[in-house]
Amino acid sequence: MEDYKKTPPPPYSVDANSPPPPGFYIPPDQDVPPQVYVGEIRVAPVRFGPESQRCVCPHCRQGIQTQIKAEPTGRTHLYALALLCLFWPCMCLPYFMDSCQNQNHYCPNCGAYLGVYEN
Ligand SMILES: [Zn+2]
Repeated sequence: MEDYKKTPPPPYSVDANSPPPPGFYIPPDQDVPPQVYVGEIRVAPVRFGPESQRCVCPHCRQGIQTQIKAEPTGRTHLYALALLCLFWPCMCLPYFMDSCQNQNHYCPNCGAYLGVYEN
């Protein structure tokens, strides 16, 4: 029962220059490099700014220039409400000012939502 402890296992290192063992075949060097699957592409999270910017879309994995859409937030509605109380003709102003809205970044290729810049 204790025999496996006395004899060490054979070494795993293989001399690259030694001929292959019988029954094995080493293909000759070719010009085409071997295709190696390295797994899923990981995309680092991108911090989005107020302007359109270049990045890699995590959905379609293309290098893209983001598309921006300004979308009102709760803060935008709050400003509108405040302007309604102060001077009502200006109440729509926050909806036309980018600085009062979030800048949502989208992929122009697949249309996926990528992130937001909050003012
Ligand atoms: Zn995309």
